[in-house]
Amino acid sequence: MRLILMGPPGAGKGTQAARVAARYDVPAISTGDIFRANVAAATPLGISAKAYMDAGEYVPDELTDALVRDRLSQPDCERGFLLDGYPRTTAQVTELDAILSDIGSRLDAVVVLEADQQQLVERLLNRAQVEGRSDDTEDVIRRRLEVYAQETAPLIDLYAARGLTEHVDGIGRVDDITDLINAAVDRRTSALDSDAMTG
Ligand code: ADP
Repeated sequence: MRLILMGPPGAGKGTQAARVAARYDVPAISTGDIFRANVAAATPLGISAKAYMDAGEYVPDELTDALVRDRLSQPDCERGFLLDGYPRTTAQVTELDAILSDIGSRLDAVVVLEADQQQLVERLLNRAQVEGRSDDTEDVIRRRLEVYAQETAPLIDLYAARGLTEHVDGIGRVDDITDLINAAVDRRTSALDSDAMTG
């Protein structure tokens, strides 16, 4: 199972990614989490990434792509993976296509978690009080939402044109949203199966 979970900051990708990945017994790979771990450990990657993250900007593609290529080549990804927060730019889509073609595999589904802007800002401000993430201040949150709209939202059409997308409402009870995502993934994979059967 090879999945992408896409959606704006605050849509709940991280929470849902862990649950859905567990259901398919594949690793949930969050580029944001990997960057934060590198920032915390003050690795060269973390030192390079921190200023971008704190400003709400994307880390340059070269750094992000190298990280993902390395992670997807680990043995635990052989059975599949769930990507949370990658790809976020058209260049990253191209890179992911190249990585998948190099390992001879393809995506099964792109799940798009949706929520309205006001809800997202409220959630992120609440999370700021709980987790204290340095990029959860109001100005930076607005910038992250802007960058998402400019750079990442267009990828939804790109994957829709490939027939891979499923849209899920990200507002509601966490368990209900997980059920909706699971149903969406099942729909996609049965669509792929029947495509394969009809050639
Ligand atoms: P959110 O979902 O709230 O945007 P993430 O934890 O996914 O938060 O990402 C936090 C930050 O990490 C992003 O704002 C960005 O600076 C960096 N980042 C994560 N994934 C990518 C990516 N694919 N490309 C560029 N930067 C990324």
